[in-house]
Amino acid sequence: MKFINLTRRTEIGANSYYLEIGDHKLVLDCGMHPKFEGEEALPNFRPIADRQIEAIIISHAHQDHIGTLPVLMRRQPNARVFMPEATADIGDALLHNSVNVMTRQREELGVTLYPLFTHRETERATDLWQSCPMRQRISFGGERVSPNEVGESTFEFYDAGHVLGSSGVMLRGEDRSVFYTGDVNFSDQTIMQAAAFPEESDAGRKIDILIIECTRGDSATPPEWTREAEERRLADAIKETFDRDGCVLIPVFALGKTQEVLAMLFEFRRNGLLGDFPIYIGGLSAKMTNIYDVRSAMSRRQHPRMQLMTELSPFVLNGQTIHEAPARAGRVYALSSGMMTPKTLSNTFARRVVENPQHSIFFVGYADPLSPAGILRQAKTGDEIVLDSDEPPQRIQCDMRQFQFSAHAQRESLVDYAKKVAPRKILLVHGDPPAVEWVRAKLHVDLPDAEVIVPPPGVEIEL
Ligand SMILES: [Zn+2]
Ligand SMILES: [Zn+2]
Repeated sequence: MKFINLTRRTEIGANSYYLEIGDHKLVLDCGMHPKFEGEEALPNFRPIADRQIEAIIISHAHQDHIGTLPVLMRRQPNARVFMPEATADIGDALLHNSVNVMTRQREELGVTLYPLFTHRETERATDLWQSCPMRQRISFGGERVSPNEVGESTFEFYDAGHVLGSSGVMLRGEDRSVFYTGDVNFSDQTIMQAAAFPEESDAGRKIDILIIECTRGDSATPPEWTREAEERRLADAIKETFDRDGCVLIPVFALGKTQEVLAMLFEFRRNGLLGDFPIYIGGLSAKMTNIYDVRSAMSRRQHPRMQLMTELSPFVLNGQTIHEAPARAGRVYALSSGMMTPKTLSNTFARRVVENPQHSIFFVGYADPLSPAGILRQAKTGDEIVLDSDEPPQRIQCDMRQFQFSAHAQRESLVDYAKKVAPRKILLVHGDPPAVEWVRAKLHVDLPDAEVIVPPPGVEIEL
């Protein structure tokens, strides 16, 4: 069994991993780097250039896991592509949106390689995807396999509780098993239910190798933290802003965090914590929210009947209307991107409210420390900030607060899961170096019999 980390650094970037089980050559995930452009935004495909990939398996439809899939499909035309059902719906919308973003970046930033793929190519690619139900063993040729057929090489998706359609992947072959967590949450969110992950490979048989994400490895959860108290704190902070005639900007990812925030706002209204007020979201977020609504009864989630688009009727903004949208009292703007990348809705709107002490910007999830959202959340009132290098600096006067509603598992629960599984080998992925290091050190102490590996980028490891 062989493994190659196809990310360019130890980081949360363009996530992609090569795995060889027997003669099956596989790629897990195929992301786009959120911070880089052109070639640097792609995973490092060089180590697999001369290998014929049989199957590409996608864990979920966040950009850092699916964003460059059409490029890999072009380079590996014979590879079958598998993903969970909801991920296929979301991935389709996301990749078409990505073509538009890259086309704009070609003009604005002069990235000549962009777009990395076209709408036509995306359409052809999505036609070839094979969407799979959770908890069904499937061969790498795409056939359903019964659990009684021992010895078959298969993969199987398990609900990861991170965003709609997110999964962990069990891979069986060579008489061994590998479980890849993808992005996971072991706690309930407002919509998503906690992950339903396996603790063994087959009745009583251990999982041999665990590939586990480490996103929150460097952030301890305060002992007094509860989701209910945090929701209450958010509701109070919104009310305070409305009381001083301000509006609230919440930068969010289009997939996952937007829908969680909308569901929270709905609950605040229903519980009487807040009255009725206008909500604004972006076009891609609206598409993703529609998919949540359409799939509500079919997915494992809380509030299965809650239809976010009809119950909250958010106003939908785009790249043009964002400039005229009123930054008026008593409104919530839950806009993407979550990292406030220049030219996105959240960045454009932040520049309109950041100098006004009446308004608020509330952070509710992960942002790369070097992204505009990451820089802004570490800054203080009175600091000068450049949110877009094409625009003049601004002085921060608005109210800024941070809330902990991460869609990723707390680091303690990652370790607890690894301890329950007790695999022979553990590979640590999807984390910045301090996060990975915390998990490595902790597992070294808590699971002394396991070999804990931080897979070096681009290097083939024998498992
Ligand atoms: Zn994710
Ligand atoms: Zn991720």
